Amino acid sequence: MPHRKTAPSANQALELMKEGNERFINGLRSVDSMMRSQDLAELAERGQTPFVILLSCADSRVPAEILFDRGPGDIFVCRIAGNVATPAIMGSIEFAAEQFGTPLCVVMGHTRCGAIKATLQSLLAPPNSLPKPSANLEAVVREILPAASRALREHPHLGDPGELGRATDEAAITNVQHTLDTLQEKSEVIRGLVASGRLKLAGAVCDIATGRVSFISE
Ligand SMILES: [Zn+2]
Repeated sequence: MPHRKTAPSANQALELMKEGNERFINGLRSVDSMMRSQDLAELAERGQTPFVILLSCADSRVPAEILFDRGPGDIFVCRIAGNVATPAIMGSIEFAAEQFGTPLCVVMGHTRCGAIKATLQSLLAPPNSLPKPSANLEAVVREILPAASRALREHPHLGDPGELGRATDEAAITNVQHTLDTLQEKSEVIRGLVASGRLKLAGAVCDIATGRVSFISE
């Protein structure tokens, strides 16, 4: 949409995400996203108006623009291991939503997430049996802990040995919901934008084996 005249609504933005992902999983690429390199100069001059803010994991298997068949100027991407809502991430989302009037923010987790698996392992392992992570990595794990604990509480059988894979995927969903809650709890700006109808929050999970993105809460 390089020459878009009016900004899409949140629901239209959500449809654009779904349609783009459908093209990707069918092996299609839109001419629009392929030709976008020709629009870079205009985009630089005019400024960006991304139609969606995407908070996703840093995992190399969830490449935002490729998964949604979009090009430069479309998606304001915030990526961090475990798609957690740190102060810097929330500041980035606030910035985009206020500066560009972006109507939709999607928090996207994914299957087989290493950050979530490591957090579950730290919860399930006997005390002091695992090597201590660095303080920086610890900060990521700390953000994921509430969601990982909740997933184990709600599905106690997933704490069994041999269930770590399923537990990881279940906790990915819980973690997306937790991040959505945190965005509203800890950011007055995001809470205000949502309350006034200027920003819609949605959750999604990408199956990294197929590339299919399922929207779990809209
Ligand atoms: Zn991940």
